[in-house]
Amino acid sequence: VFITFEGIDGSGKSTQARRLYEALAAQGFAVDLTREPGGSEGAEQIRSLVLEGDPDRWSAETEILLFTAARRDHLEKRIWPALDAGRIVICDRFADSTRLYQGLRGPGLRQQVDRLHEMMIGTEPDITFVIDLDPATGLSRAKGRQTAEERFEDFGEGLQRQMRDGFLDLARAHPERFIVIDGARCPDAVADDVLDRATARLPR
Ligand code: C5P
Repeated sequence: VFITFEGIDGSGKSTQARRLYEALAAQGFAVDLTREPGGSEGAEQIRSLVLEGDPDRWSAETEILLFTAARRDHLEKRIWPALDAGRIVICDRFADSTRLYQGLRGPGLRQQVDRLHEMMIGTEPDITFVIDLDPATGLSRAKGRQTAEERFEDFGEGLQRQMRDGFLDLARAHPERFIVIDGARCPDAVADDVLDRATARLPR
């Protein structure tokens, strides 16, 4: 079973991915926790290439290519082998982040993301949790985390709003895959909600 967490910066999705991982591991499930961009040695190197240094170094198109290459390596090295072995894989961000972070940066980009995805990735998660949060709250939570803050500045609150709406639109378009979680509550309440919704969908 492949489970991903998505949401804007500061939404709490990394905390929630880790909490679900810990809860399922404690229940005896064979489960792995990983993240994107990154997750394998090669993909982590690509993450550093894109997210560290000059933010104008790469165009949106080259970011799409680099993150898709990173995702392919992550799948080959970690996700596919774990899923083949019957493990649960929990991934903090996946292709939906590229669909929105890169896909919203200009006209036609979303279509390029989708075409590359179809050609080189193919895999979609079984369950995607969207940790939904108002961008202003996300920004105040993300303060002090440098990359997240820089990206917030790059995007501005307007684009962050578009991203939040983008996640909600994706969720409406694919109700069989998405579960939207109210991320404005305290972390314990969100974690309980996520665990309930996940266990309801897991094979016993
Ligand atoms: O989720 P995480 O904090 O690891 O993401 C690192 C940064 O990369 C975030 O600021 C996020 O906005 C950005 N990012 C991006 N494009 C993606 C995924 C993440 O710009 N496809």
